[in-house]
Amino acid sequence: MPAFICTTCGTQYPPSDEPPALCVICEEERQYVPASGQSWITPERLAARHANTFRQHEPGLIGIGTLPTFAIGQRAILVVTPGGNVLWDCISLIDDATIAVIKGLGGLKAIAISHPHFYTTMVDWSRAFDCPVHLHAADRQWVMRPDQAIAFWDGDTLALLPGVTLIRGGGHFPGGTMLHWVQGAGGRGALLSADIATVTPDRKFLSFMRSYPNLIPLSAREVEGIAAALAPFQFDTIYGHFFDRVIATGAKEVLAKSVARYLAAIAGTARGAME
Ligand SMILES: [Zn+2]
Ligand SMILES: [Zn+2]
Repeated sequence: MPAFICTTCGTQYPPSDEPPALCVICEEERQYVPASGQSWITPERLAARHANTFRQHEPGLIGIGTLPTFAIGQRAILVVTPGGNVLWDCISLIDDATIAVIKGLGGLKAIAISHPHFYTTMVDWSRAFDCPVHLHAADRQWVMRPDQAIAFWDGDTLALLPGVTLIRGGGHFPGGTMLHWVQGAGGRGALLSADIATVTPDRKFLSFMRSYPNLIPLSAREVEGIAAALAPFQFDTIYGHFFDRVIATGAKEVLAKSVARYLAAIAGTARGAME
């Protein structure tokens, strides 16, 4: 039986003869069912039509994305460290080439995912690499394919490996998680922020939303919570959830001015708001 995958969000469901009646993730207000209706694909057909591509962002940090773009279109990031490798976030397509490449780089010690929109085929990935999947417990209800490999963590931070820390920022989802890598950005620190703190297309700012496709903003309290969660950490580079969404340098200052801009915008005190 195939484990069907939603073509809009990339979420995989448990093996079944027929596709699920609906996608719980896409029916929820943070996602959407397209006008063309709900559709599904099997892992086999996905692999026949698409392939993964790799891009090294910096030494030890390799983006993995799918071409042509599938579902939301995020890329995962392989973080290569002396203490073992971490797959940050996940993508639906896992094929033989991807497994061979990652095993050649030392395999995976852990998978960690920012939020439910990127859970995708995490169970297939964990089985391919025989490693746990670390998810924040606050988003437990959005796991569509439960598995023993899923390790729920609680609280504000989790020390995953030496130099690699998961940070709960909340916001987009209550368990919204980011990854901090001390050795990243040439030792100045890198933050892998997914869309908990989204790098905007101009790559000069971050923004923060409850729903990106449906344009639902977050409250001031939630955005201040993300800023507070990141305050103890040093980083110079931020990697968002697409290949081209990167704040190359000065990311700590970008975070501060982005939070200030967001708070001014929703308070109605932004420049031009009174004109
Ligand atoms: Zn979906
Ligand atoms: Zn999302």
